[in-house]
Amino acid sequence: DERRGDGDGDRTAPSASATSAEPLLRIEDLHKSYGAEEVLQGVSLEIDRGDVEVLVGPSGSGKSTLLRCLNRLTEIDSGRLYLGVTEVTAPDADPNEIRQQIGMVFQDINLFTHLTARENVTLGLRKVRGMDEAKARERADAELDRVGLADQADSYPAQLSGGQKQRVGIARALAMDPEVMLFDEPTSALDPELSNEVLAVMDELVAEGMTMVVVTHEMRFARGAATGITFLDDGQIVERGPPERLFENPDHERTARFFESIR
Ligand code: ADP
Ligand code: MG
Repeated sequence: DERRGDGDGDRTAPSASATSAEPLLRIEDLHKSYGAEEVLQGVSLEIDRGDVEVLVGPSGSGKSTLLRCLNRLTEIDSGRLYLGVTEVTAPDADPNEIRQQIGMVFQDINLFTHLTARENVTLGLRKVRGMDEAKARERADAELDRVGLADQADSYPAQLSGGQKQRVGIARALAMDPEVMLFDEPTSALDPELSNEVLAVMDELVAEGMTMVVVTHEMRFARGAATGITFLDDGQIVERGPPERLFENPDHERTARFFESIR
């Protein structure tokens, strides 16, 4: 793997780079409880580089918790998570490092309201990456251009539509050069028209080969972009498969009923 460092002295090379033989993301028997409620009851899942996994399931089934565990926003009770060869859940893994490599876009758009679009993107580059201001600005502008917001760099969140804010959130995550992008219902707070501009950016990322795990009920996106669909219910994977099979011919009655309910 030419991306890995060539010796012990190389501490800056990303250790997460997966070889082609192993999945990029590996979730092994993940358990998570809140009090007496076990919200993830032994979830195992492997996602290859370039895959777009769409995660669906009823409200409360544990989708957000699963995504949050993946980048260590929520600590797990037991199980193991890997990004390539790096164990995300290792005691000495640095959560800040992991959150750069596994970017996340949330349903409720959490931009800093006192910062411009550009400043929202440069913040992490400067604070976490230690980039100087000129470089960070250049990178931020490139990422804002990538999400179609080159002309809004100096706007504050209050001046942006929901769809534009969400796209700034995507640009912010992309600026950190993530290996994987997680999306937690990125369009469910948006009107259809604004949803479409966010979905268009996500389609672009798919076309670029980005590895993505997407919680969404946008079945048009799922049909067009997903390499796999995982149906989660009650903290367990009920079934997983290619979109055509899960939509048309699921093994489980629960899966069929779910797709019927969101149609
Ligand atoms: P989903 O995203 O599929 O709707 P969540 O992962 O948000 O599901 O929630 C799964 C379950 O865990 C729900 O019953 C929810 O109430 C509970 N839960 C989620 N986060 C917390 C938390 N921080 N504290 C206590 N309970 C939580
Ligand atoms: Mg959720």
